[in-house]
Formats: sequence, C-alpha cells, structure tokens
Amino acid sequence: MAHEADRHAVIIGAGLAGCAAARALCLEGWRVTLIEQHGMPAMEGSGNPGGMFHSVLHATDGIHARAHRAAAMATWRLAKPWIEAGLLAGQAKGLLRLDAKATPELAQGWLERQALPADHVEWLDQRQAQSISGLPVGSGGWLFHQGGWLHPAGMARLMLQAVQALTKDGKPLLQTVWGQAVTAIRQTPHGDWQACAGDITLATASTVVLCSAMQSAALLNRLPADQAVHPLPLTAVRGQISHLPLDLQAGFKAPALPVAGSGYVLALPDGRLLCGATTQHHDEDASVRAPDHRHNLNQAARLGAAPERPDSTSLPERIEGRTAWRATTPDRLPLVGALPWNQARLTSAQANGQAARRLDQVRMIPRQRGERGGLYVLTGLGSRGITWSCLAAELLAHWVTGAPCPVEADLRDALDPARFLVREMTRGGHAQ
Ligand SMILES: Cc1cc2nc3c(=O)[nH]c(=O)nc-3n(C[C@H](O)[C@H](O)[C@H](O)COP(=O)(O)OP(=O)(O)OC[C@H]3O[C@@H](n4cnc5c(N)ncnc54)[C@H](O)[C@@H]3O)c2cc1C
Repeated sequence: MAHEADRHAVIIGAGLAGCAAARALCLEGWRVTLIEQHGMPAMEGSGNPGGMFHSVLHATDGIHARAHRAAAMATWRLAKPWIEAGLLAGQAKGLLRLDAKATPELAQGWLERQALPADHVEWLDQRQAQSISGLPVGSGGWLFHQGGWLHPAGMARLMLQAVQALTKDGKPLLQTVWGQAVTAIRQTPHGDWQACAGDITLATASTVVLCSAMQSAALLNRLPADQAVHPLPLTAVRGQISHLPLDLQAGFKAPALPVAGSGYVLALPDGRLLCGATTQHHDEDASVRAPDHRHNLNQAARLGAAPERPDSTSLPERIEGRTAWRATTPDRLPLVGALPWNQARLTSAQANGQAARRLDQVRMIPRQRGERGGLYVLTGLGSRGITWSCLAAELLAHWVTGAPCPVEADLRDALDPARFLVREMTRGGHAQ
C-alpha cells in the first residue's frame, strides 16, 4: 500500500472516464487533482445529450459478453437511483436490442445454455417487442432489464459531486483544475510526476492517470526513452447523432424505452427524439452534416420511430446534431491499468537480465511504476463509454490503490493495456 503522502493522483481529462476515475480514487481515500482543458466536464466524446447503456448477449458467454454485462450492471447500479430521484436525465427501466436473425428457439437455447436470469435478459417476440417499445419494430429482440439511457455530462457531474464533500485533514480530497490543457507529463528527479502546461507545472503527484481519450497517446509519445511506454493502440472514429422534435403528425413516434438495432433511438425529456449514430473512420470533419442526418433518420425509420423517407433529400425542420470522436481499440475493449514499458526497454532489460525471459502474459510485463506510484491509463472506451466508465474506474482504483479487484482475473487481463504488447511480442517471436 502506498505511503500516505503518495496517495495522490493527477487525472488528465474530465470526460466520463476521468470523472468516474476521480470518484473511484476519492472513495478509496486518495487525493485527486483532476485537470481538464475545457471549463467544465464532458465537453468532448461525453458531450452528447444522451446515450445508451446495456449488456450484450453472444452465442457463447465469452470475455466480451461477460465484460459488457459487468460494465452495464455497474452503470445501472450507480445511475438508477440518480435517475429515479430526478437528479440525472435518463431512464433505467430496460433497453430493447432488436435481433432480426434470432428465432425464438435459438433465443431460448442461448438463455438456457447461459443460465442468465430472466430479470437480466429476456427474449421478446415481435409482438411483445412492439408492445413494450411502442414502436412498430420489425423483429423480436432482447430486453436487457439493467439497461437504459442517460445524459453523460449529468452523470459526469454527479460522479464528481458524489465525492466533493470528502476531506482528509480538513482538505477536500478532490481538486479540479478547469480550462488548462496538459502539454506534457514529466518525472522529477524524486520520482514524482508533473502535469505541465508549457513551462507551468499544473500539478505534481506520485501517480498520473491518463483519461484524455485520443490525446492520451500524444502525451505518452513525448516521454523520454528511459520512461517510454508501449504506444496506445487507439483509433479515432467519428460519430454524429441527430435530434429533432418528436412531431407525431409527421409520423414520428416516441419510443417508450431506448431501442437499438442498426442504430438507436431514445426519447429525450424535452420531447425530442435522439437517433444515431454514424461511424466514420479517418474523418476529421467536426461539422454537423446533412447526409449524416439522413443516415440517422433512415436508421430511426428502420426502428419504427421515424417515417420512411423514400428518396427524400430535404430534412425535417429543427433537426440538430452533434459530432464527436470515439477512442477505439482493436479488440473493442477499454484500456485500464498501469502502462507497460515499450518493446525497446523490454528487450534491453531482458538482455541485461533485468526482466523475466518469459513475457507472454500481461502479468509478467514490467510497468512504468514503482513503489511510490506511476503512470496509468483509463481510455479506449470506444462506442461504449457510458456503459463502461463506472466499472473501468473501479478496476483502475484496484490497480492504483490495491482495492479489491471488481472483476475476475481473466477480465482484468482482457482490459490490461499490456495485452497488445504481449500479442505483438508473441506474434513477432520475442516472447519466450
Ligand atoms: C456519436 C457518439 C455516440 C455514442 N453513443 C454511445 C452510447 O449510446 N452508449 C455508450 O456507452 N457510449 C456511447 N458513445 C461513446 C461514449 O460517449 C465515449 O466512449 C465516452 O464518452 C468517452 O469518454 P472519455 O472520458 O474516455 O472521453 P472524452 O469524453 O472525450 O473525455 C476526454 C477528456 O479529456 C480532455 N482532455 C484531452 N486532452 C487533454 C489535455 N491534454 N489536457 C486536459 N484535458 C484534456 C478532453 O477535453 C475531454 O474532456 C458514443 C460516442 C459518440 C461519439
């Protein structure tokens, strides 16, 4: 366990990931300095007016399905009381995921094989799906009871509020620094880490957690060779959502609960329909585009919430949208944990006998951390950050503070940022 003076972390980035991480570390009694380049939380990837959270179901209950189920449950547990108390915009009464390929027999087979309780997931035939959603949906689907939607910025703010009253020795555990972009992280000769904006040191602590989505990679890439870590395998994927008044006369319909399939629809409390989202690789255009609105409206039409739009080029009045980027990983699972050394350092340490000869499992990989602290990451939440941030933050707290691990060991390994290094070394024949 870290010495009291070292129980302090700087977190860079106050989206869902950073706010969830701040909450989780403060709940473990750690001091946190949270630094955000904008003047408030959740202005980038986490800035949409609403997004879904839900479990997933696959034919076999593998790592991906188990991890997403655990993540959805963690979000639901935290968000539901806030939603029910009217503190958070959202709905936590279930989510319908349409599945045109599944038959009732196949669905029943999956449920029986996986022995998942009916109060977690149920198969609904088309008639039942139409009845529960209030939409003329075209197929049956899965009803995830611990699913729903929420307002990400509201969630981020509540996570900070939940710990802002916590103090140690009369001082608040959580400190926030708004409107400052970190341009570099540096290690001092004493082993502390500094988050800097140019020549100015914004904060110093024994531990730094990068929650700065795509920008995490850029900050790490500037570390000197003797502190270099394996590059984060992140890709930016553009997404645009659309929202518009639910004009019932024009054939729009309000979903009674969020409905997903190819795209998704949900009803915002101000009477607007939110539909989305596009998925565009290698696209840096920040504008809100008419063709993307059309794509989202067509998806909403397929889900039954919008009128069919044959050959329509005009858009409904008062349609608005928002564009943001998802930080995605190659295996669609987040990156949570201590950052591993890069290959050059590992190879040289192996040659000097300072690293184990076998490096084919994540737990054998040396990390950029010592007894006093180190460098950690919580990012790569991709298109599931609303679902993921709570559980990922609890897992981060385990890594940083030594709190009990909230997931089984194989799930922890599956989210470990060292997994890509191990895969590369194994493929390249370096691991022994
Ligand atoms: C169109 C779209 C639809 C989506 N729909 C859903 C959905 O329905 N369900 C779901 O679960 N997920 C959804 N997601 C994904 C989810 O929104 C993201 O995974 C999540 O918001 C990512 O949170 P984050 O904190 O990692 O990143 P961000 O919210 O981007 O936060 C990173 C923060 O770091 C700050 N920062 C970066 N660099 C620095 C620096 N150098 N110094 C200081 N601060 C810095 C940024 O300003 C930002 O506030 C969607 C995403 C998009 C784009």
